Amino acid sequence: MDIAPHVVLLPFPAQGHIKPMLILAQLLCHGGSFNITFVNTEYNHHRLLKLIDQPAFSRLFPTLQFMSIPDGLSPEHPRAGPSVVDLFFSTSSVSKPEFRNLIVSLSQEPTCIIADGIMSFAVDVADELGIPVITFRTYSATCTWIYFHLQKLIQNGEIPVLQGNEDMDTQISCIPGLENVLRRRDLPSICKLEADSPILQFYITQASKMTRASALILNTFQELETPMITHLQSIFPTVYTSGPLHSLLNSIIVDSPSKNSSSLIEMDESCIKWLDAQHPKSVLYVSFGSVIVLSHDQFLEFWYGLVNSGKPFLWAIRPDLIVDYNGPNNIPEELKWASKEMGCIVSWAPQEDVLAHQSIGGFLTHSGWNSTLESIYSGVPMICWPMIADQQVNSRCVSEMWKVGLDLKDTCDRSTVEKLVRDVMENKVEEVMASTVKNARLAHDSIHEGGSSHGNIKKLVQDIISIHSRKIAVNKEIMSF
Ligand code: UDP
Repeated sequence: MDIAPHVVLLPFPAQGHIKPMLILAQLLCHGGSFNITFVNTEYNHHRLLKLIDQPAFSRLFPTLQFMSIPDGLSPEHPRAGPSVVDLFFSTSSVSKPEFRNLIVSLSQEPTCIIADGIMSFAVDVADELGIPVITFRTYSATCTWIYFHLQKLIQNGEIPVLQGNEDMDTQISCIPGLENVLRRRDLPSICKLEADSPILQFYITQASKMTRASALILNTFQELETPMITHLQSIFPTVYTSGPLHSLLNSIIVDSPSKNSSSLIEMDESCIKWLDAQHPKSVLYVSFGSVIVLSHDQFLEFWYGLVNSGKPFLWAIRPDLIVDYNGPNNIPEELKWASKEMGCIVSWAPQEDVLAHQSIGGFLTHSGWNSTLESIYSGVPMICWPMIADQQVNSRCVSEMWKVGLDLKDTCDRSTVEKLVRDVMENKVEEVMASTVKNARLAHDSIHEGGSSHGNIKKLVQDIISIHSRKIAVNKEIMSF
């Protein structure tokens, strides 16, 4: 019998990138019976394997193996907050040759490599070794499209966006399809940098290298972003929109031990019991994802805003969330007291389960793409506090394009926070509520039999099988000489 196709996946070393790529790996393993090699950096490899129920995981995905390469940073490096950008440069220089060595050492030559759109050194390695490569951008289609226009934004003088300047509200007109949507303040955070900044230049290079891949995978669904997906098809002959990936996996493998298996941080499930005791749609869930940090002042503004709104809240506060945390003595007693009455605080929540819980009525989020998509799928309206990367774009799409939430952008004083919490939880802005229900239905439809994302995953599996069959045919031809 012929050996199965072998797919190597390489995510950027951050939670929001590893999660969708590991889910895709599980889907390919389950749906295509492929051999999968999932390559993490050593740092994340150990964190992930510590939390996975390995025997149960192996029973479900027997042909999925984890391997690792160094990320080039010291063990003490925080790899979060602003210093996460160090990984851009260390992976490009240190991880690239290590990745090449790993690929050539594999016992089965890969059928194809699926590489994160900001790990584009994998395209160089794949080209050199003659292995097909598909790129997976873990952002929305809208944001992916914007990243292809960074050079144009520089030429038009839109970069750098000057923080606090009145021009922040000027409309951006040089990105086809987004003419009346984006203001300067809605551009990705890197647009605040000088044009010659190495970080901005890194993204320009990544976008250009991505175009050498044979196809693009996005964790979004066709019905949410049709115009942007059409634009991207002018760059990539094939675009597989296959999201929301988490729900696609959950719909195929119900109640499996693989659920939450892509988390790098231990989840505190105790909050589910607390949610069980709350009224339907009464609780605001608050989380700022795995990377961003708040100042102590911002943290207190949010906290006062929540408490003053009078709505119960569940808040995931990572130990490293507050950059200049001065200890519990600097938290006002009134906040501590009020939170005991109306709040539940955990360090890391089982977010998918939380958003699906009947007690949740709103989500105060940093607008990371996974969180945004998970909220859309669960029909939970959002209040957005974007800070870095694609978050500014996502929050604009949420509030202006899809109308499934409200955007705090650039201001988090306690009275604004309180007002938006009330608007979502109490006044239930009609347009937002209707749109939230509609988009959740579209997301559900997309992942079921006959839906767009369901179909695209099947097509991806088929296309990889075709690459594999062609490779075998060529090898047989060579052997027969
Ligand atoms: N997440 C979680 N528990 C938390 C906070 C976040 O499980 O308490 C998960 C969330 O479900 C999402 C991911 O972490 O899938 C965060 O990804 P996202 O793209 O939203 O943000 P990032 O962490 O990359 O900024």
